[in-house]
Amino acid sequence: MKYNFPVTRTDNPKPKPDPQNLVFGTQFTDHMFVMSYNPDQGWHGGKILPYGPIILDPSTAIFHYAQGMFEGLKAYRTAVGKVQLFRPEKNARRTTVTNERVCIPALDEDLIVEAIKAVVDVDREWVPDAEGTSLYIRPFIIATEPYLGVRPSSTFKFYIILSPVGPYYPGGIKPTKILVEDQYVRAMVGGTGFAKVGGNYAASLKAQEEAIKKGYTQVLWLDGIERQYVEEIGTSNAFFVINGEVITPPLTGTILPGITRDSVLHLLRHWGIKTTEKKFKIEEVYDAHAAGKLEEVFATGTAAVISPVGELCWKDRAITINNNEIGELSHRLYDELTAIQYGRVKDEFGWIVEV
Ligand SMILES: *Cc1c(COP(=O)(O)O)cnc(C)c1O
Repeated sequence: MKYNFPVTRTDNPKPKPDPQNLVFGTQFTDHMFVMSYNPDQGWHGGKILPYGPIILDPSTAIFHYAQGMFEGLKAYRTAVGKVQLFRPEKNARRTTVTNERVCIPALDEDLIVEAIKAVVDVDREWVPDAEGTSLYIRPFIIATEPYLGVRPSSTFKFYIILSPVGPYYPGGIKPTKILVEDQYVRAMVGGTGFAKVGGNYAASLKAQEEAIKKGYTQVLWLDGIERQYVEEIGTSNAFFVINGEVITPPLTGTILPGITRDSVLHLLRHWGIKTTEKKFKIEEVYDAHAAGKLEEVFATGTAAVISPVGELCWKDRAITINNNEIGELSHRLYDELTAIQYGRVKDEFGWIVEV
């Protein structure tokens, strides 16, 4: 190992939660990874400490101008008790891209992966083994300079925290009801749509809240200029199966380059299914539905893997997709991806990294 991170173990290990009743993002393990940046030393002092509060001056930059970023991935326990990660080098690569956009100094990508492996290893007993459970890994960086002027912070901290999580669909996969958002926008060309930053999320909460009040699960975002082109579904990437062809919007700066999205495209092409990344209008989706050619709609992301859409509503026009049932391709993708993640099938693509 190129890196060696000192470990300070907790004196008060917490009881592990009941693996049958895990609620996403509410419980955290015993340890966390911390590393600091300052202009003299660069990124330095990476170490593993007991999980605990962060004490910061109220004037700290992150609180005021949101200079920060985050990532999300999972560790999975296999049937034989191994702990493994799914394509963590892609999260490290995306960290570099996000950092560049929000003026956070670059971190070595190998170091990010090694830090993830090191902290997961220390808390490996926290990786649950009940069906569909996993250990959610949240790396994040915050600007820590106590200064109210508007310019990039001169100091930063990089943390990795861990949270055991249950299956996304405890009662089995249920298709979602999605409201096509034609007022609020998530991202614009030239903005931060491709970067994993908290600011994107703050700006999206209101649309999500209004959609939930109207009885929907999430919104489908359209482009920020014409409110016509399909972009994302909530905080997941969007896929449409039309007449046997799978289409998804291209990565043109307003879409978050999902690792699940990339893996889905890879699998579909490997299976010989026609797959196209192109700009398309919500009107085209409705036309395909009217012509009986809209076969499936699904969203992709680390949390749910594949989330089938059962209903879309755009300008008060509601359409039902695939009888509100999970489609064949959605099902196949979900089964294959989770089989790779949990080590139930051979990893043909070099996606698995053992801890
Ligand atoms: C994280 C994220 C995704 C999904 O990315 P994965 O790497 O597949 O988890 C999609 N859209 C947004 C806005 C995101 O923040």
